[in-house]
Amino acid sequence: MVVAQQHVDLVALKQRHPLAEVVTAAGVQLRGQGRVRQGLCPFHDETAGSFTVYGDTARFHCFGCGASGDVLDFVQRTEGLTLPQAIRRLDGGNGTVCQVAAPRGSRATPLPPRDPALLTAAARCYHRALWRYPQGRAYLATRGISAATAKRLGLGYAPGHGLRGALAGAGFAAAQQRASGLFVGRGAERFAGMVVVPAVRDRQVQWLAGRAITSDRTPRFQTLPGPKPLLGLGRLGAAPPRVVLTEGLFDWLTLVEWGLPAAAVLGTQGLDRVAAALRSCPRVVLAFDADDAGRAAAAQLTELLGQRATTITLPPGVSDVADLATRPDGRAVFRRRLATAQRPR
Ligand SMILES: [Zn+2]
Repeated sequence: MVVAQQHVDLVALKQRHPLAEVVTAAGVQLRGQGRVRQGLCPFHDETAGSFTVYGDTARFHCFGCGASGDVLDFVQRTEGLTLPQAIRRLDGGNGTVCQVAAPRGSRATPLPPRDPALLTAAARCYHRALWRYPQGRAYLATRGISAATAKRLGLGYAPGHGLRGALAGAGFAAAQQRASGLFVGRGAERFAGMVVVPAVRDRQVQWLAGRAITSDRTPRFQTLPGPKPLLGLGRLGAAPPRVVLTEGLFDWLTLVEWGLPAAAVLGTQGLDRVAAALRSCPRVVLAFDADDAGRAAAAQLTELLGQRATTITLPPGVSDVADLATRPDGRAVFRRRLATAQRPR
């Protein structure tokens, strides 16, 4: 095959970039380790996990929306790229098919960051909507998050319409909007019916996550496809003296509400990357969920961070930091446990 007058060995290219790794790097969690793996489809809104990756044929098929193809189709579709662009994207953006091995440990190609200017415009649109539609603010209040914190963090609400017009008004063409990850399926807004939390660095939005405000909206959580940031770290400056590290979106919002320098892993995966991001931070307080996954993550991070890490034990009956947010004495309880955790040993 000839692409842009370069002879590209597509068989070798696909071998260098196994479909499951590229799909995972795009933020789709695949269940299982076998030849057939499934996850939530990035091309339509679902909770069933119809998106299927076949290891033997290196092809995907979605039983929900019918999307199918190989690794290049996947990258073209998730990123809104042409075939030559997808080939360049997979092989490092230098326009030729290079033979250089990817960094050890991860052969998955990290997909490039989305356009921060577009995401910033989207977050502004959601933030304006938070003040126009009271249900978003009401939901935050039930989780113990004040309007002042919503303002400070630029939180938003997605009513499910109006984003396209706002982005067009800010000068973003239809193709840029399609490649943004903000729309799913036939063009529905990804975060419709959700409060939206931006990850900000250098005053620009790098990534977005959403939480449904009603129980009938599924999935409950949505994020932009692509690598997750360490949420909140971008707000703490180059070398924060102390970071309280937690697990989930609302754990993080709670800690910020309480005036603490916080960051969230957003799950318990990718802890090597988390430790690397915190390499210049002299003190990391771990406040993970009181379940097996949370305890295992805290133990692994303690191993990676060594003396710099201390762990907070949540009171009996409390599942996570966000759980404390709705208790009248939650903040005081957390402060006491934080003081204990930080006492010199
Ligand atoms: Zn699908």
